[in-house]
Amino acid sequence: MSKNTDELFKSVIAHAKEYGFVFPSSEIYDGLSAVYDYGQYGAELKNNIKTYWWKAMVQLNENIVGIDSAIFMHPKIWKASGHVDGFSDPMIDNKDSKKRYRADQLIEDKIAAYDNEGKTDQAEALQLALDEAQKADDLARLRELIIENNIVCPISGTANWTEVRQFNLMFSTQMGAVADDADVIYLRPETAQGIFVNYLNVQKSGRMKIPFGIAQIGKAFRNEVIARQFIIRMREFEQMEMQFFVRPGTQREWFDKWKETRLKWHLALGTAPEKYRYHEHTKLAHYADAAYDIEFEFPFGFKEVEGIHSRTNFDLSQHQEYSGKKMQYFDPEIDPDTNKPYGNYIPYVIETSIGLDRMFLLTLINAFEEEDLSTEEKQDSRTVLRLHPCLAPVKAAIFPLTKKDGLPEKAREIMDKLKVDFNLQYEEKDAIGKRYRRQDAIGTPFCITVDHQTLEDNTVTIRHRDTMAQERVPADSLDKIIGDLVSW
Ligand code: ATP
Repeated sequence: MSKNTDELFKSVIAHAKEYGFVFPSSEIYDGLSAVYDYGQYGAELKNNIKTYWWKAMVQLNENIVGIDSAIFMHPKIWKASGHVDGFSDPMIDNKDSKKRYRADQLIEDKIAAYDNEGKTDQAEALQLALDEAQKADDLARLRELIIENNIVCPISGTANWTEVRQFNLMFSTQMGAVADDADVIYLRPETAQGIFVNYLNVQKSGRMKIPFGIAQIGKAFRNEVIARQFIIRMREFEQMEMQFFVRPGTQREWFDKWKETRLKWHLALGTAPEKYRYHEHTKLAHYADAAYDIEFEFPFGFKEVEGIHSRTNFDLSQHQEYSGKKMQYFDPEIDPDTNKPYGNYIPYVIETSIGLDRMFLLTLINAFEEEDLSTEEKQDSRTVLRLHPCLAPVKAAIFPLTKKDGLPEKAREIMDKLKVDFNLQYEEKDAIGKRYRRQDAIGTPFCITVDHQTLEDNTVTIRHRDTMAQERVPADSLDKIIGDLVSW
């Protein structure tokens, strides 16, 4: 029953749709490219991932607080942050197909094709030339490489290319009734800037002392030109970010700490450690003094899920310059070298930034299993999501064995007691076996069956998703049994 990784990925996407996790946006209008909607179980799973992150970051750390800043922000913020001038990809259009491509992506695809054909020398030479062109920001050179290597448009098959130009990834819109340039505002391409511009508000109102962090979960928007691989690269997505403000000179120590802490957060969900790896950035952004990605092995290869960046004091200094407002923090602690307070400075920032949608996909892929249950007598299988119970959309399903003899009423009575604390589902249609399969497919850790014996001694059977083992337990112990397993 083993599938290749491509088939496995397709099965996960189909499963996500069939069972109400992820739908293509605007599907009845043939969809909207790189935009997706989360269905009834997807929304629950997403909320549970957010809660797991929020608790780990905010609730467990006394020096980290969470905020919720607006998506719309003053347009100058994006000038100060460098996004207006620098947040862009090099694009090239094919004149025949009228389709637009990322110039560097076309070249990378060609490098992969050379590799596949065993032309390693050509692949290496092209990679080198691409690196040089990127380093020099040489757009004309990118076009030359496309022409020289005879790269044709996948749709028209022609090499009739335009010039390469930078294409800004920010979406813009107008605020207010009059459309003029001055009113242009952007949909935020990252949540971080909402934290930077509020850092002093939070520090003062919360009497925060350095080192401290500000966390936020929210939507971000990028007009990605190449949208690939399902919810990996979307135009509207969600980020969970934390900016940690530290004393200058201590950033490396904090960077190392957060790099480790964040990987531990991932591994605490029970994922096999070999599925994860760090990727160190060698080409650093102009504002960064260290950057690592946490990558996960998706069916199509290792891909970034989270970035940990040491952003120096770049963002706060830029906002000080553009807003004219002081972004300094007064540090009253005594510097042992000088015996005086550290005094005023602009803090350095360590950032942890994880894509919620990529985390969602990772979770789904990791949990998905098509399990062969065949015996000598008969062929059988089930699709099961082995989600960590704390992330499961439905914690338990309650089934009356039959629809009569007062069993539905008893099942509802048990459910009413538990549903305040847990998201539950009641099901009375179909044979028990079929109901188990439906719950396996959405990752429900427990199925509870109410039968005639329940009416006599108030016990129920509880069936465990992973082992499929069943046991008889008192109905009154259910809240503890479920609570113990689904807690953080
Ligand atoms: P990539 O190199 O894959 O485009 P990035 O380096 O631009 O990602 P960051 O700006 O560091 O990403 O954003 C932090 C996190 O946000 C990423 O690790 C990723 O999980 C998520 N993310 C970024 N862009 C998208 C997107 N278009 N769709 C979904 N998630 C995204």
